[in-house]
Parts: sequence; C-alpha cells; structure tokens
Amino acid sequence: MRFSKSDRIVVLTGAGISAESGLKTFRDSDGLWENYRVEDVATPQAFHRNPELVWEFYKQRYEQLKTAKPNPAHFTLKKLEDFAQTNFSLITQNVDGLHFQAGNNNVLEMHGSILRCFCVKCRNNYPISDVDLEKPIPFCEKCKGMLRPDVVWFGEIPYHLEKINILLQKADYFIIIGTSGVVYPAAGFLQTAKYYGAMTIGINREKPANYYLIDKFYLGKAGEVLPKLVDEWIE
Ligand code: NAD
Ligand code: ZN
Repeated sequence: MRFSKSDRIVVLTGAGISAESGLKTFRDSDGLWENYRVEDVATPQAFHRNPELVWEFYKQRYEQLKTAKPNPAHFTLKKLEDFAQTNFSLITQNVDGLHFQAGNNNVLEMHGSILRCFCVKCRNNYPISDVDLEKPIPFCEKCKGMLRPDVVWFGEIPYHLEKINILLQKADYFIIIGTSGVVYPAAGFLQTAKYYGAMTIGINREKPANYYLIDKFYLGKAGEVLPKLVDEWIE
C-alpha cells in the first residue's frame, strides 16, 4: 500500500498516542484518569458541585504537560502532514496539545485543550499561562466569573463536528490511533468514513470496540508501529 499526494488522509487520535509521552489513558486504568474518577473531574456536574477539585485535577495535568514531549508517533504524523499537505487532516480527542508541539498544523482538537480556559459567564478565552493558578479557582479579569478549562466534558458537545463530518465523507484513508472506540461521537467516525468509501486503518495496543469496521489493523504501540508503517506508505 502506498499513499499518493492526492489521497485524502484523515487521522483520529486518542489518549493511547500520548501514552508513550508519559500521559496515562483512562481505559488502561479502570476508568480512572491519573487516579481520579472521571465523573468527579470531567463532567459539567462535577464542576458545578466542586470546581476546586476539578481545577486541582487540571492544574496537575497542566504541570505534567510542561515536561511531556511528543513521541515518535506524534512526529510521524507531522511527517505525514508534510507529505500530504492540505490533503491531511488530524482530528484528536486529546487535550494535551502534543500534536501542535510536534509541528502539525491541520489539527482539530475536538475535545478542546488543557492549555486554554474560558469564563463561564462572559465566555472570554484565556491561555492558561495567563491565569493565576495559585488561586483554588481562577476568576475572569473582565467580569469576575469563574474560569473553567476549555475541555469538552462528558455530556457536552465536541467541537468541529460539522467540519469533521465533511472530512470523513471525503476521506480516502481514515486512520485511528490509540483510541478505545468507546467514547462517542468519535467512536462513530470509523463507520461514517467506511460507509462513504474510505479504507479504514487502526493502530492500537488492543482491539478497539469498533474493530469490526477496520480494514487493516496493526496491534502494537503507536510509537513503534506508526513510524515503520508511514515510511512504507509514503516511500
Ligand atoms: P481511552 O483511554 O479510552 O483509550 C486509549 C486506547 O489507547 C486504549 O484502547 C489503549 O489500549 C490504547 N493504547 C494505550 N497505549 C497505547 C500505545 N502506546 N499505542 C497505541 N495504543 C495505545 O482514550 P480515548 O479513546 O482517547 O478516550 C478517552 C477520553 O479521555 C478522550 O476523549 C480524551 O479527551 C480524554 N483523555 C485525554 C488524554 C490526553 O489528552 N493525553 C489522556 C486521557 C484521557
Ligand atoms: Zn468573564
């Protein structure tokens, strides 16, 4: 198999691609994300109930990100974008910003990013580096409303869904990497892409829940498997 420059390549990544950068996934730790219960830190109800706890969790994630570096899988996707240029699109469920750090440009962060926050009252956006994280809960400079991380929590609607739907319909190749195929709507993208005629490819350390929709599946760690595959595909 070889990609040509006119092929439209769409990639979906999940927490598994960042595992080798030292960031934990939650499927691998029994529904816990870095030792927190997802219901306590990643839902709008949790923020309403206990914003301090939610901030404590995201402050830790931000601290961890300061030393996390993109791994060979991230850099390989940069190489793929350099090859396919505007025919390449990267959709990520990750909130860690590592794809941008690796140099990718065409990235849709469908679940937002830990590196940004916004005011729940006036919706003003702030880069997290501008926010005073010494406070238990940071507040908006303009209206004194509470700030929250700009991440999409369970029960909220992901970003960029219309754009993603168009990409899936036009894709020649749809590749999923490091995602369990359990969290919707992202888990349904494979089906859309396949029904519209894309060849579907999966790289994961275990068979994902939507394995039956994958035409070519490669079992293994993204940082080890992906660089070799992409070398073959674009040689
Ligand atoms: P998930 O935790 O549900 O699944 C991760 C998948 O990656 C699993 O199937 C696992 O077997 C696989 N995996 C683990 N290590 C791997 C490796 N080295 N190479 C290849 N595959 C590997 O993740 P998800 O499907 O992305 O859903 C979790 C949600 O939680 C996401 O929507 C995301 O917003 C959030 N989350 C984000 C991060 C992050 O930004 N780094 C980390 C944890 C959770
Ligand atoms: Zn405000």
